[in-house]
Amino acid sequence: MNRLIGVPPRRESKGLAYCPICTHTVETQVVQVGKRAWVKPGQRCPRCASPLEVASVLRDLMAA
Ligand SMILES: [Zn+2]
Repeated sequence: MNRLIGVPPRRESKGLAYCPICTHTVETQVVQVGKRAWVKPGQRCPRCASPLEVASVLRDLMAA
């Protein structure tokens, strides 16, 4: 058997992340697995061009 048990589906969507560099909330691509969400690796802040991997996701725009 090769069943995946307990692995929630992974999906990507637009979300909001707080950039600590320019202290602005920016829209970015967010990866969400279950109830956890983080900025997709490689995303950059559109305002200050800093990597957003350290930014914290504030809210998934598609959240139910
Ligand atoms: Zn920024």
